[in-house]
Amino acid sequence: MVENTVFDRILRGEIPADILYEDEHCMAFRDIQPQAPVHILIIPRQRLDSLQNATDEHTESLGHMLVAARKVADLQGIGATGFRCVINAGAGGGQEVPYLHVHLLGGRPLTWPPG
Ligand code: 5GP
Repeated sequence: MVENTVFDRILRGEIPADILYEDEHCMAFRDIQPQAPVHILIIPRQRLDSLQNATDEHTESLGHMLVAARKVADLQGIGATGFRCVINAGAGGGQEVPYLHVHLLGGRPLTWPPG
């Protein structure tokens, strides 16, 4: 079955995205509706719809994405000042696109708790 979320389609190159970083495990591109001066999404090449369904077989892929997030933060000049990584999981967690993604946010002071 061809999976057709917007992130599946970006990964396959079917729709454009402002891609900032790619490697063998993941891809990072700008969020289309940024919530901060830097708002980048990181997605795994190993398909997973939600962190709700993560298993041991996703360990490498998920860990790799966090290291990639740090690299992208450095490339964007927010590594030293600080940044936030968020994974929304499921409807109750505010997830809208059912393809796991890490939000990398920064470039302004971020408050806590989030909304
Ligand atoms: P979620 O709520 O699922 O955690 O976040 C989904 C994110 O994907 C939102 O921040 C939204 O702005 C972003 N988004 C939705 N459609 C597109 C798209 O077509 N391109 C890009 N670059 N981002 C998208």
